[in-house]
Amino acid sequence: MIHDPLDSRRDCFKPPDTPVEVCCLHCDETYQSDRIAWRVEASADGGRQGVWCCPTPGCGDVGFGFDILPTDPNYRDENGGWVCFDEDQEDDEPDEEPGGHTCN
Ligand SMILES: [Zn+2]
Repeated sequence: MIHDPLDSRRDCFKPPDTPVEVCCLHCDETYQSDRIAWRVEASADGGRQGVWCCPTPGCGDVGFGFDILPTDPNYRDENGGWVCFDEDQEDDEPDEEPGGHTCN
């Protein structure tokens, strides 16, 4: 079946079935992912397209895992996977432990 742009369940930015705390990159609001709202809008080609939107009034950010991210950095979805953010796997900055200076 062809991807249906109006089928919220098949959208790749669908929030998880189990709500998690998320934070919007744009408005900086933190809320439960079940507040992410499915909205159907007119698309550029004159058709209609559904998008998962940030519930904050005036914020136009869309998509769980796109603009709206889990606050838990170790978040995994029901399938144990997650969108990859491994643009910077190697951490250049050493972990600084509080009070852990090694001065002799
Ligand atoms: Zn937002």
